[in-house]
Amino acid sequence: MSYFVDTEGYFGEFGGAYIPEMLYPNIDELRRSYLQIIESHDFCQEYTTLLRDYVGRPNPLYLAKRLSAAYGCKVYLKREDLNHTGAHKINNTVGQILVAKRLGKKRIIAETGAGQHGVATATVCALMGIECVVYMGQVDTERQAPNVARMQFLGATVVPVTSGSRTLKDAANEAMRDWIAHPGDTHYIIGSAVGPHPFPDMVARFQAVISQEIRAQLKEKTGSELPQYVLACVGGGSNAIGAFYHFIDQPQVKLVGIEAAGKGLTSGFSAATTALGRPGVLHGSRTLVMQTADGQIEEAHSISAGLDYPGIGPQHAHLFSSKRVQYVSVTDEQALKAALQLANLEGIIPALESAHALAYLGSLNASTEDNVVVCLSGRGDKDMAAYLEYARK
Ligand SMILES: *Cc1c(COP(=O)(O)O)cnc(C)c1O
Repeated sequence: MSYFVDTEGYFGEFGGAYIPEMLYPNIDELRRSYLQIIESHDFCQEYTTLLRDYVGRPNPLYLAKRLSAAYGCKVYLKREDLNHTGAHKINNTVGQILVAKRLGKKRIIAETGAGQHGVATATVCALMGIECVVYMGQVDTERQAPNVARMQFLGATVVPVTSGSRTLKDAANEAMRDWIAHPGDTHYIIGSAVGPHPFPDMVARFQAVISQEIRAQLKEKTGSELPQYVLACVGGGSNAIGAFYHFIDQPQVKLVGIEAAGKGLTSGFSAATTALGRPGVLHGSRTLVMQTADGQIEEAHSISAGLDYPGIGPQHAHLFSSKRVQYVSVTDEQALKAALQLANLEGIIPALESAHALAYLGSLNASTEDNVVVCLSGRGDKDMAAYLEYARK
């Protein structure tokens, strides 16, 4: 069985491109050209140079000694938080802007939840001198105000979306609508491993640099390229697929995706798609979706805007149904506690999203000799208001 995309754009029974006819030319152009572009010598050279000199890669794989002592195993943190703009999202936006340039696009649109993807997109648009419009749920513009300011300072137009739950899924709908209205000159930089084929596969290939580096760095530190566990939080699933990518075909490496249980799995306020979702179509692909009995998309809830999404990328849906990856969930409260713990033990303030992955360390039952890699997907500056409120309690 393959865990990767097939020639039809599917991962097992998930994936595909369920799109309005008006979008077909855009998607088809991308589908026909993406592999040729990203495998070309010229692209690889520009991409790897930018990752090194602009993003700051490779970022460290850090053995967190005090955290390791607390959990009785060797915990290595993959420091995506140290990338330019403070999260893994820039790996993808650098890749996609280079694709857009080669397709002759003059305008970029994006959706954003936490604002991290919006910032990463506004950043590469400034770098390349390309117009940038970012759709963001109005609720998210309020809870992530510093990122709205960053995008605007970088020259992007931020459009607050007031439909639906006014969060990420509504922003993604609005971006799709924009793309339909501007075929031809516009590229839509999707911010996670979601959307119609070829986006999930293309985003996974860009984020795969994470596991490529982990292998080399682990080899240097431990003599083996393979850890016992890799943990990553899952919103749409881009940092997780990047952290898993080069281990997927190594069955001895246990891969764990951590979703947001919000206020609790059965509370009605959660974003744990693998636990609560059923197959359906969301944002152009067949995947697992949180939905009502009659197929209406449910609203997701998480304290972390980046995980507040009622779907999951189709490759993750396949990795879940084929049981190659174990998916679990942790609550808002557990994530807050884990963030405070990392700050106190290691002097690192993680993003709330990343704190979900850290929070699962306590449930892992790893042994003292096990090497456990946690993808620290981003830094926590944007979450200080939530952290301070938690610390005051
Ligand atoms: C956006 C974001 C996530 C969630 O997105 P994925 O596509 O699931 O990785 C996780 N961590 C951080 C820091 C983010 O900004």
